[in-house]
Amino acid sequence: MVARPARLTPPVECVRLYDAEAQLDGVIAIHSTALGPGAGGCRFWSYPDADSALADALRLAEGMSYKNALADLPFGGAKAVLRKPAGDYDRAALFRAFGRVVEGLGGLYVTAEDVGTTVADMQEIAGVTHHVAGLPPAKGRAGGDPSPWTARGVFESMQAAAGFALGRDVAGLTVAVQGTGHVGAELCRHLADAGAKLVIADPDPVRRDRLRAILDARVVGVDEIATVEADIFAPCALGGALTRDTVAALKARLVCGAANNQLATPDVADLLHERGVAYVPDYVANAGGIISVSAEYLGEGPTEVAERVAAIAPRVAALLERAAREARSPALVADEMAEEAIADAQRRAAA
Ligand code: NAD
Repeated sequence: MVARPARLTPPVECVRLYDAEAQLDGVIAIHSTALGPGAGGCRFWSYPDADSALADALRLAEGMSYKNALADLPFGGAKAVLRKPAGDYDRAALFRAFGRVVEGLGGLYVTAEDVGTTVADMQEIAGVTHHVAGLPPAKGRAGGDPSPWTARGVFESMQAAAGFALGRDVAGLTVAVQGTGHVGAELCRHLADAGAKLVIADPDPVRRDRLRAILDARVVGVDEIATVEADIFAPCALGGALTRDTVAALKARLVCGAANNQLATPDVADLLHERGVAYVPDYVANAGGIISVSAEYLGEGPTEVAERVAAIAPRVAALLERAAREARSPALVADEMAEEAIADAQRRAAA
């Protein structure tokens, strides 16, 4: 097994979020600002305790640094994690309280949607700070829900990776999609249009059944989807889909999906490599969302977003080719490339 070096830098800043009246409880983790302000979405989720929310924020913020660096964006990495209150709460007041903290950071952190947050939440935040994206687009400007851009980047990455690893495009192949939320559902639509066969799983019956009806997808249980008979596995739910056990039982020869932090532990990348499963590192494939969000924040338009999203698939192809040439896991190669970009920026800033 290949030893994996520790990742680049510890978080430069962690901001505790607490406002009892607004029931705001969580953390903003700013991992790196070497390339620009820390940019990354705001997750709103039920966490059992503050420690698990903090651990998630740290992991996700680190991932954003790597994602933004490799997508060549002028942003560092950060993430906000808000704990969903157990009882009744005033959603608008909670997100405004969060927005006030973002405003207080003066642009060090830029927020947007993530799992559990919506355009309406971002509009509440925008009432108190400008350091937010994922808002309804102004005419000729980038903006709105970034998920369709994420799905497009993942789909095109999958096509490129299938060409490299399986010697064909996805037409006629079976793709197992874990999670049919904003990105997963849109990815399924692209795949159906391209002639792929779909197997899907989601604990939410409304999302799952709506998609089954439209796209003629086969539904399996959430415990089965990762190891179901399929050519490609697309994790599009939460993180940690790829454990050692899952990878040992995986039938798919290619993994490419939208979920952040798919590897439950870093050594899983080596196991995928040893088993000959091609792996497209999550943060390389799923950069479409942050590309849209960053363009919106910078006042750019959909043309710039489309150009940058179109650059994801060739990057994936180049990454898989380099990893194969060097007989290394694509996850390690991607990390190394991102770390070089961040270190270069740090050297330039220090000079
Ligand atoms: P979402 O909340 O809309 O969808 C997630 C879906 O996963 C939900 O339908 C949920 O019911 C389902 N799910 C939860 N646990 C599951 C399980 N065990 N098995 C199967 N399904 C399960 O979120 P999204 O915006 O579609 O994001 C999906 C993933 O992609 C997340 O990890 C997110 O961080 C990542 N991502 C999203 C974007 C974006 O633009 N939305 C960008 C980059 C990365």
